[in-house]
Amino acid sequence: MYAIATISQSALLHNFSVVKKYAPQAKIVAMIKANAYGHHIDLVIPLLENADVLAVSELKEAKKLREITDKPILLLSGVYSSEELQQAIDLNCHCVVHHTSQITLINNTTQALNVWLKADTGMHRLGLSSGQYQECLSSFKTNPLINITCIMSHFACADKRNHPMNQMQFEAFNTLTDNKNNRSMANSAAILSLSKSLFDKVRPGIMLYGASPFTDNDFTLKPVMQLCAPIISIKVLQAGESVGYDSTWIAGKQTTVVTIGIGYGDGYPRGARNGTPVLISGTLCPLVGRVSMDMIAVDIGNKKVSIGDKAILWGDKRLRVETIAQYSNTISYELLSNVSARVSVISGQ
Ligand SMILES: *Cc1c(COP(=O)(O)O)cnc(C)c1O
Repeated sequence: MYAIATISQSALLHNFSVVKKYAPQAKIVAMIKANAYGHHIDLVIPLLENADVLAVSELKEAKKLREITDKPILLLSGVYSSEELQQAIDLNCHCVVHHTSQITLINNTTQALNVWLKADTGMHRLGLSSGQYQECLSSFKTNPLINITCIMSHFACADKRNHPMNQMQFEAFNTLTDNKNNRSMANSAAILSLSKSLFDKVRPGIMLYGASPFTDNDFTLKPVMQLCAPIISIKVLQAGESVGYDSTWIAGKQTTVVTIGIGYGDGYPRGARNGTPVLISGTLCPLVGRVSMDMIAVDIGNKKVSIGDKAILWGDKRLRVETIAQYSNTISYELLSNVSARVSVISGQ
């Protein structure tokens, strides 16, 4: 008995249609990095027939992806050596140029290359300043092998609706890229809340997987991953008895506590606090005590359950991964992408 993550095909297709609804004119660059946010690329790619481009962070991911698809692959951090450039060309990747150290390297290409220029409009992580952007443009303009496919930038605070950074970055991007057709700025949060930033290519990640970047609205997104694990022990505790490491939870009255076969070794967050909901035969029951490597304990009161019954940890409309993220002081992105190799990930309806 072990933990299983089921990937809902219909939910992913539905979420893709939500992207289309919010950005009907835009091309869709589906974010597939980190093994499709933990959903496994081999299960997800067949459902993304209508995506225009697939984006990953690293060559290693691009390589895996190329084995299963002919679609354009965007390499989000670009290349850092001539060997990497050659590999990117062999895999027919589009390369992001985000740093001036990549200019000479890219200019030495011996084959035609699609390049996405990444501008830094305020996030200050990756991206060219406006001076560097101009330098890049003029350098690449004279190279017939380089096709500047798109100008992109990334929002720092798109999940905070009225954050002043959003307007600032939007304006900086607009000024820099005036009258250019091929532009991309919007991640999921911007797709759902900043329609003027859609431009002609959008980059949805988390919303494809059915988690909302906002705490106050799920935008009808449907959870794609359902994480389940079996009940492996049932005990009746008396008032005053504790459960788990460090005895952080003590029963206030007689109650039934079940042990579920999932823990931080599977990617269930160790930070999940007492009271984090777990769905057991239709009822939300509170997690009690510390999360261990292989198991958690849940107070089910006087419910009747059996060994082997399955508990849902997240991925149900009554128990979204966003809720678990709140209870464990993190974000849905981290929980989904942290599901470990020990968990079987399977395809479902
Ligand atoms: C991951 C990523 C996205 C997608 O962000 P979500 O919030 O998951 O929609 C978009 N753009 C870039 C550059 C990214 O790295």
